[in-house]
Amino acid sequence: MTDSGTLATADARSAVKRQLRLLIALGAALALTITLLPGLQPAAEAFPIESHCGTETGNTSVEGFISHDQLGRDLERIERSSQGRVEVEEAGRSFNDREIWTATVGHGDQVMLVQSDIHGNEKHGTIALLNLLSTLGNNSKRSAEIREKITLVAVPMMNPDGSELDQRRNDMSWEDTVSLHPQLEGAPRAWYHNARLNGFDVNRDFNPDLDYTPQAEDLPGTSAGVGFYLTPAAQTVRDVYAGLEDEFGNVDVFVDLHNQAPCYREGDNDHYSPLSISGRFISDPDDHGDWPEFDEDDSLRANLAVYDALQQGNSPFGKVTLYPQNINLPGTALGSFSLRGSAVVLFETSGQTQHIGQKRMGMLAKQVETGLGGIVDALTDGTFDDLDPERYDDIPPRRWAN
Ligand SMILES: [Zn+2]
Repeated sequence: MTDSGTLATADARSAVKRQLRLLIALGAALALTITLLPGLQPAAEAFPIESHCGTETGNTSVEGFISHDQLGRDLERIERSSQGRVEVEEAGRSFNDREIWTATVGHGDQVMLVQSDIHGNEKHGTIALLNLLSTLGNNSKRSAEIREKITLVAVPMMNPDGSELDQRRNDMSWEDTVSLHPQLEGAPRAWYHNARLNGFDVNRDFNPDLDYTPQAEDLPGTSAGVGFYLTPAAQTVRDVYAGLEDEFGNVDVFVDLHNQAPCYREGDNDHYSPLSISGRFISDPDDHGDWPEFDEDDSLRANLAVYDALQQGNSPFGKVTLYPQNINLPGTALGSFSLRGSAVVLFETSGQTQHIGQKRMGMLAKQVETGLGGIVDALTDGTFDDLDPERYDDIPPRRWAN
């Protein structure tokens, strides 16, 4: 890759300024954390130099991210230090028999379900969720207030098999799939299973019908159709979602934490976007059955809560863009759960691990945590319904930049 020093541009300088503002704005405690992180070293590593957009570098470092074992230990620690305010459970197991944990905090009647790492090389959300859980489980007055108003359920590592391999897909052959679902013997391979990569894009394995069981005649399916709950990971999240519906009547907000390529710009200007968001995954709900609870405006409100939280004060995270809007993905968790009436938010934080490794890890995780905090605050303070969905389309669109 190009030596970063030769490309110190206005972007690099403005990134440094943003970093300085961050240090000032977020105070000494956070500054201490951040100065330890490689991503906030001086201009040499300013964004997006060394991003290597479009191609995986193969030499990025990921040890700073959280492994599955480490996650288990961290959750145990958070549960203990919260004195039971955060409750950790094994919700299910991945195909390779790794625990898929939920961590629940709060007892309010507004329900928020957040998952991370459905694509195993998209890891910032896991860190953000652990930090958020620690905060919401602490003994501050604000956290107590939040716990009164909301119930937050986190699935901090949804696809642990992919995560351990640092790859997008899970780790499951078609033969494995047929052994789990013998009725599929002889059926065509589901379109979102890849034989060469030996796994599913778990993010296409969802169906708004939570009682759906895989049928040979429904395969292979298409990107514009629903998924089939073939993977244990998607089945686990479906069961968590169904359990929350049973208990609370509905899941108010569902958030899916991803990472995108690092080379997207904000609008046509020269700021690189550290985050894209979206609340639109269904072009026409009537194409997929009868889903009377579908309410796109609520999704737009939830996205605005994220956007607004990231625009405040001297926030260094302000350059949020809209993910492409002309998509129709009913087989994603976002698409399926929006059909059932959840307000949904996609986070696409800058950079999968193969693009930027752990550079700027602390800042990017803090950005996700801050955005999630915007939804938590809007629900807690009762301002969620006041958000005007018409503002959503004023968020600048993301654009590819070389
Ligand atoms: Zn993703």
